[in-house]
Amino acid sequence: MRRLGCLTVFVICMFLAGPPAHAAKVKTFVSITPQQYFVQKIGGDLVEVSILVPTGADPHTYEPKPQQMAELTKTAIYFAVGIDFEKAWIKRIAANNPGMRIVHTDAGIEKMTLAAHHYHEPDKGHPASHDKKELTSGAGKAHHHQNTGTPDPHVWLSPPLVKTQAKHIADELVTVDSANRTRYEENLSAFLREIEALDAELQSLFAGSPGARFMVFHPSWGYFAHAYGLEQVPIEIEGKDPKPAQLKELIHFARENGIRVVFVQPQFSVKSAEMVAREIGGQVVVADSLAGDWAENLREVGRKFKAAFP
Ligand code: ZN
Repeated sequence: MRRLGCLTVFVICMFLAGPPAHAAKVKTFVSITPQQYFVQKIGGDLVEVSILVPTGADPHTYEPKPQQMAELTKTAIYFAVGIDFEKAWIKRIAANNPGMRIVHTDAGIEKMTLAAHHYHEPDKGHPASHDKKELTSGAGKAHHHQNTGTPDPHVWLSPPLVKTQAKHIADELVTVDSANRTRYEENLSAFLREIEALDAELQSLFAGSPGARFMVFHPSWGYFAHAYGLEQVPIEIEGKDPKPAQLKELIHFARENGIRVVFVQPQFSVKSAEMVAREIGGQVVVADSLAGDWAENLREVGRKFKAAFP
């Protein structure tokens, strides 16, 4: 009798406590760290997120480790973002686990062409119309972005474009785990509001600086610049350091335009960035395009850009 009582209490407790804490989470993979922020915002504790490209690695040239390939076989969803290494690996990753769903979170986003050598005559914020002849010159080398008219993959750095990615993520989680539809939808709404607030904040931060220029080593910030009416001036040309003559022109351009800061990201070599900074009597400042705390990082980078405007 006493035993039965205990069991009854136990069963009631189970009901009150809801599903056990170890309820299977939806196992997901993302390519880069900022995506973990997105999936976590929408999936909360219903999902587990692994990142393929570890902190500090270059997502343009990364190759998954055998251990990661093994882990991918236990994964339900892969959220791709359109970054370079995916092109080489996504088929292998899919063949490795035919049951895994692959979601292209950049679907429906109109890609701009990667900005390069953008310093002679700026086409107001839209590198898409940039000189194609120049872009072909880097073909054949083991650098990233070397193809003609390479689409700019850095779509996670523009809040308006992240709204699109967030919707794809939520749609997929609802499809795979429909029992929790309401929670995913509520989380999505909250995240979209957060993105809109950040977007408004950045709009007002840059409202007084239309067309302001910032110089970067690697051109990650094209969509960000486009969203806020700024202009990114990259040093790197299609994934390569500029040639001496190009570097000279770049330094001249920076001096003429009062540019004193060269932004770099921690994943890439900064040798030519440091050289340019020295020549213009300026400094090198870090602007990370792959930071884990996506929203706070965009705020911080936004403030750094603004502080560096000529
Ligand atoms: Zn990049």
